Amino acid sequence: MVAPVWHTTESQRIFNQAQRLMPGGVSSPVRAFKSVGGQPIVFDRVQGAYAWDVDGNRYVDYVGTWGPAICGHAHPEVIEAICTAAQKGTSFGAPCRLENVLAEMVIAAVPSIEMVRFVNSGTEACMGALRLARAFTGREKILKFEGCYHGHADTFLVKAGSGVATLGLPDSPGVPKSVTAATLTAPYNDLTAVKALFREYPGEIATVILEPVVGNAGFILPQREFLMGLREITQQDGALLMFDEVMTGFRIHYGGAQAYFDITPDLTTLGKIIGGGLPVGAYGGRREIMELVAPAGPMYQAGTLSGNPLAMTAGIKTLELLGKPGVYEQLEQVTSRLVQGLQGIADELGHPMCSGNLSGMFGFFFTPGPVTNYEQAKASDVQKFSRFHRGMLERGIYLAPSQFEAGFTSLAHGEAEVDATLAAAREVLSALPR
Ligand SMILES: *Cc1c(COP(=O)(O)O)cnc(C)c1O
Repeated sequence: MVAPVWHTTESQRIFNQAQRLMPGGVSSPVRAFKSVGGQPIVFDRVQGAYAWDVDGNRYVDYVGTWGPAICGHAHPEVIEAICTAAQKGTSFGAPCRLENVLAEMVIAAVPSIEMVRFVNSGTEACMGALRLARAFTGREKILKFEGCYHGHADTFLVKAGSGVATLGLPDSPGVPKSVTAATLTAPYNDLTAVKALFREYPGEIATVILEPVVGNAGFILPQREFLMGLREITQQDGALLMFDEVMTGFRIHYGGAQAYFDITPDLTTLGKIIGGGLPVGAYGGRREIMELVAPAGPMYQAGTLSGNPLAMTAGIKTLELLGKPGVYEQLEQVTSRLVQGLQGIADELGHPMCSGNLSGMFGFFFTPGPVTNYEQAKASDVQKFSRFHRGMLERGIYLAPSQFEAGFTSLAHGEAEVDATLAAAREVLSALPR
């Protein structure tokens, strides 16, 4: 499964050149392996559950281009549909029939969505939905949770600094304090903190935004009472509840985490899977809110390539494949087998670890756990994770290069891939100090 001697000469050559051409050698930071150390692998092609690097090594891929590849990479039906659509042009800049098709599918699937606006990324979806929440409520403050990621827009680049529990300070230079001053933060799964903020700022918070299952602080499950409590508190105060389902939409369940947990937010953002591997994002919600969006209403938001026929086609085909019976049961089965296997090996070898999964999304931390928020996630042994990551990579298993990212399986991952992964994990964990 791996080349007899794992070498990455060509990856290194290309990445060294890339570092002279692009900041950090990448187009998105986490790809650079900074948090696990060592040089990143340069991919040549992907297919099904696998990725091949430029040196010819093959990997079982648990990143799946960060979520979109839920049907398996380069699914033949998706690729064929894209090729056919491309014959008619790649972008119209005018209305296109395919937008209606994908919009109808999204509206039928996601309980909170009665109307939808297509954009080109998850970041754009969250920016648009945030502006809409502020426009609808006439309020400016927002409440987000520590460790939740909502794209790289200024307002969202805040986690609570220790000791500055509620006042938003920017995570990145270049973000004005005046912008993040309106961003309040609270620990995930902590209703008491949320209630306190609503007592402090009654009638001022436009929206509470969260990942309904966290994937950007590692994999963290919500307590259902937490989600229910947020629904109640926001309703009482007149704030909007926003589920950022860019990662969880069509992954946890065909109707997203909101269908799985049976909690209906006011606004929902989508991305990743609905583009089937091409750049797409979307935001949607109740008709009365969405009709504020231009040109139906006064809230401006636009996009040259938004709703283009190529991306719509990839999304439509992907959702068609996900709409077949048994799909989410299959994802749950293969992912549980993987996660229970990993946990079993760690327990047996005496490595403190906690893990979890829901459908085709999973995670594990090198700490006894449980992990219910970002603070606890940060207490895990990231050193051990880095060594584990490297060991797995050398054995042909490609995991997300950070302890604080979720893992993804696809419909192309089967028992053979899981068993190979567990065999590699046993070797690596056996060699690591407890
Ligand atoms: C990936 C992600 C985003 C950002 O999407 P991009 O397409 O990378 O801009 C926003 N929110 C969540 C929950 C995500 O996982």
